[in-house]
Amino acid sequence: MGRITGGPVCLSIAGFDPSAGAGVLADLKTMSAYGIYGVSCITALTVQSTAGVSAVHPVEPAVLRAMLQELADDFQIAGVKIGMLATAEVAEAVGAFLESGRFATIVLDPVLRSSSGAELLSEAGRHLLLERLIPLATVMTPNREEYKALGGEALLAAGGARAVVVTGGDSDGGTAHDWLMTPGGRRLRVEGASVQTTSTHGTGCTFSSALLCELVLGRDLEQAVAGAKRFVTEALRAARPMGRGRGPVEHFWGRI
Ligand code: PLP
Repeated sequence: MGRITGGPVCLSIAGFDPSAGAGVLADLKTMSAYGIYGVSCITALTVQSTAGVSAVHPVEPAVLRAMLQELADDFQIAGVKIGMLATAEVAEAVGAFLESGRFATIVLDPVLRSSSGAELLSEAGRHLLLERLIPLATVMTPNREEYKALGGEALLAAGGARAVVVTGGDSDGGTAHDWLMTPGGRRLRVEGASVQTTSTHGTGCTFSSALLCELVLGRDLEQAVAGAKRFVTEALRAARPMGRGRGPVEHFWGRI
């Protein structure tokens, strides 16, 4: 059988959140909202709801490798989004896959913790992320805490990240802006409106997937960051309260 040629296909490599607010399910919903066919590879099962994460079960690296290979053999993958990696072994398997595939567009969301405080990447995994995965990414999307924890400005030093978007940023007087930074000290403030809501679960996953979709659809980095920010802002605005804790955003705001 030949390859599917119906439109771009994106791959999400991330964790499974059974409450469907974050992780691969947030990524696939975002890709669907953009009209992009999303495939996914789960790095870890989490026991989780809107109330928080209570357990993490990483997937066996050999199983992960087999899933990634199966997908790469079948689909022409236009872009890859990397989210939660859980362990160094998983990060290592993902690094080897990315190196062998030479993908044109890779968006890396360096997930360290859930908002509820659960650790989603081990210390050894963090080293692998810094040394092996970040240099492969087209752009990475840390929130402010992740940016600081991963070394801040040092991320853009020689051999490190090619571009960084620091999200969930400064929020003052009704605005919430992100920063786009590239090597050479370039910093661009990306304006956005702050939305008063408790439905913020998975905003980081949604932003990074939206950014990948924008890039795959041909927008340049500045346009793509602005477009992804708008996607998340509208998804926050359209969200309805769900669950006992921090509910999911509404990925299909465009169709309501
Ligand atoms: N669970 C999974 C599987 C994730 O990939 C992420 C990603 O960021 C989270 C939870 C954290 O989501 P939040 O920051 O909204 O708690």
